[in-house]
Amino acid sequence: MAVPFFTTARQHSSIEAELFDAVKRVFERGQFILGGEVESFEMAIADYLGARNAVGVSSGSSALVLILKALDIGPEDAVITTPFTFFSTASSVALVGARPVFVDIEPRTFNLSLDKLASLLNSCDRTDDGHPIEPASKKAIKAVILVHLFGLAAGAHGFCELCRKFNLHLIEDAAQAIGTRDVSEDGSVGFCGTFGIAGAFSFFPTKNLGCAGDGGLVVTDDSGLAERVRALRDHGQRTRYRFDELGLNARLDALQAAVLNVKLKYLDSYNARRREIAALYRVLFKEYGLDETIALPHAPDVPELHSYHQFVIRTPMRDELRGFLADRRIGTAVYYPLPLHLQPAFEYLGYESGDAVESERASKEVLALPVFPELERSEVEEVVAAIAEFFEAKG
Ligand SMILES: *Cc1c(COP(=O)(O)O)cnc(C)c1O
Repeated sequence: MAVPFFTTARQHSSIEAELFDAVKRVFERGQFILGGEVESFEMAIADYLGARNAVGVSSGSSALVLILKALDIGPEDAVITTPFTFFSTASSVALVGARPVFVDIEPRTFNLSLDKLASLLNSCDRTDDGHPIEPASKKAIKAVILVHLFGLAAGAHGFCELCRKFNLHLIEDAAQAIGTRDVSEDGSVGFCGTFGIAGAFSFFPTKNLGCAGDGGLVVTDDSGLAERVRALRDHGQRTRYRFDELGLNARLDALQAAVLNVKLKYLDSYNARRREIAALYRVLFKEYGLDETIALPHAPDVPELHSYHQFVIRTPMRDELRGFLADRRIGTAVYYPLPLHLQPAFEYLGYESGDAVESERASKEVLALPVFPELERSEVEEVVAAIAEFFEAKG
């Protein structure tokens, strides 16, 4: 039996009538750009996340660019992030003219290392207005983009505190972590994406809340910043045909908002099901005695701190295992095969192999297994049995 790595078909067939009604409503109204559907989604998601403002945008990537622009980050500035993430976490920085600076990950969580970030910041000279100066480029470091990778909370409390100390904006890339909780400095629990000055989300179809195309969101408690993002997603106009500054065409489509209005109701149950599947993987890997042979994803004490956008294992025999599973028609994926500091597009930054050893090692060892809410128990059993067969043959 083939096990798909991911499919939207099962989810959509279960809510097809609701989705088609919502799409039909958009056609009947004829309002395709912004309007009521987008506004009601913005209100619903702001309410769900407990954020003061939510602005629907065209993708997670444009959410990041719009946040950086709205914070006036540009060519004089540097922004720190992880090299072990999707490309646009860092390309957004370069696209506004600023310099991406890469700090390595914590191998157990795959998330940006707070210790490594602190030691870089502590070693920096400061500008007159208190910003750390990046040693290689001499640019002023203005922000950190914290990624909650694979749906695991990155520990916002530590980053909030460090960013305050160094006069930096904390931007959260929560594209993979919608509905994941994290803990703030005062110990209270909130959603990933709501701790920093602003959070970016993506509704790319494979994400935990996916639409039927591209879509994204900016959330922020800062109403001035939200207004700026609102103008910037619409060419920089606040009143019709009066352009206050250079913006983009980066609006959320009404059709996508209509789909999201339907699916948001199910997000918590989808994420709960992802956690159940992750728990099942752990039980089965233990039963087969494989929990030492392969490294399983970090399991936080509080289950809600992970929403398993991906269930990522590690083994030095990754490529061989992946081929073995492919022969059995079991889908897997590698996130990410080449860390960003070694990507051709970032060659101009001057990084070399060895500059982020944990990210480089992870890129050779990680393997994402099927995890999506509609995956069946029998399919999880089949994946684990096949992995057990592979390691048995290896002795
Ligand atoms: C998906 C993703 C993005 C980009 O989102 P798009 O909607 O595809 O533009 C950015 N960052 C991370 C970590 C992502 O996973």
